[in-house]
Amino acid sequence: MNKQIADIEEIISSAGKSKTGANLKFFLETYGCQMNFSDSELVTSILLDQGYIPSATPSDADLILTNTCAIRENAEEKVRKRLYEFRKLKLRKPELVVGILGCMAERLKEKLVEEEDCIDLVVGPDAYRTLPACIAEVREGRKGVNVILSKEETYSDIQPVRLGGNGVTALISIMRGCDNMCSFCVVPFTRGRERSRNPDTIVNEARNLFSMGYREVTLLGQNVNSYQWNDTSFAKLLERVAMVSPLLRIRFSTSNPQDMTDEVLYTIKKYHNICKYIHLPVQSGSDRVLQIMNRSYNRSFYLERIKAIREIIPGCGISTDIIAGFCSETEEEHAETLTLMQEAGYNFAYMFKYSERPGTLAARKYKDDIPEEVKSRRLSEIIELHRQISHQSNINDLNTVHEVLVEGRSRKSSQYMFGRNTQNKVIVFPADGHKQGTYVQVLVKKCTTATLIGEVING
Ligand code: SF4
Repeated sequence: MNKQIADIEEIISSAGKSKTGANLKFFLETYGCQMNFSDSELVTSILLDQGYIPSATPSDADLILTNTCAIRENAEEKVRKRLYEFRKLKLRKPELVVGILGCMAERLKEKLVEEEDCIDLVVGPDAYRTLPACIAEVREGRKGVNVILSKEETYSDIQPVRLGGNGVTALISIMRGCDNMCSFCVVPFTRGRERSRNPDTIVNEARNLFSMGYREVTLLGQNVNSYQWNDTSFAKLLERVAMVSPLLRIRFSTSNPQDMTDEVLYTIKKYHNICKYIHLPVQSGSDRVLQIMNRSYNRSFYLERIKAIREIIPGCGISTDIIAGFCSETEEEHAETLTLMQEAGYNFAYMFKYSERPGTLAARKYKDDIPEEVKSRRLSEIIELHRQISHQSNINDLNTVHEVLVEGRSRKSSQYMFGRNTQNKVIVFPADGHKQGTYVQVLVKKCTTATLIGEVING
């Protein structure tokens, strides 16, 4: 057992006895994907357990933590800019502890402490249990660094604390890590190997959330379709969570096309409360590009899955991820991505330019040779095409009725409430005293590219 683990375990047992955070305030901000927001709810639980008190502003805090994303260069740049603010706070309050969590912590490790003098703490996604111990290290004048990745850790015994949020929808992490090695992706390096969480703890969490008034849960993982716990497959887990209550909606993210089985599709079809919406990242429409991306499917396999979804679950909402300008992508291959988008008819898409990430397979094997202006032009063509497709999809919904889970007041006008239909489309309607967490039937009267607008006919 190496010394660092021994030290940390020694301090955990001692720290456990005394609340290391008694009456100290913590400020936690989160960047990146839903997985990070779910992790921040775990971190909040761990800190509250240590007696820390949440602070709404960094200037009022004794401990500032940033849960970071490393998926693209600009995600890390955002954090570096934020550190500039925290450095100023630290000059005024030297005992302030500043820490970096998440994928950037895992990707850069000790280097972060060397590069950024205001950082005291660097803790990776699998080491949050040791956060109190690492903070204790800092209080003793050392840097607190723990970036050990784990093959077992799922935090299944820690109840996430959802301080923010709308009290209607919640995230439940069902697994961690990823065993795929897509050549452009840092996740396998920052979140480690795949491991699934005990299904009983997931069903209990869903049951608790329902009893607390939540009416929708999103089951989270880098590749939820490869969830497996003994003989409990993802389809079986979906069924168990759906049986908590017909009033509890189930969503899930993210799926990998090669693992999207018909068993999962028929389970979605079988339960009204499993939402008819699937996020199925494609990344590119070209077989050669998919191959150098190390994606384990080709164009025809992917489109066959789209066809299966449309046949088994008619009207199912589908969204995707697309990368523009990957290494050596030709104009013809870019055009293949555009034609695939037309065939798939996505409701929503996350569209980005390729951003080379140090240490990934692509960074080691392929030249990032597509000029920035070409990447930008290709991305804007993808975005424009998507805008047209999703607008047409919304136009097709005019004069149709949708069951909507009321989530809250519209950001644009307090006279209106908003919610989403089973296809994950946002629908806005007059407030008229409708309550968060209730279901209403909305007749769609108008639409924009991104939003449906209607009136409640029953609810
Ligand atoms: S499936 Fe690929 S893109 Fe998704 S997290 Fe895993 S390695 Fe990254």
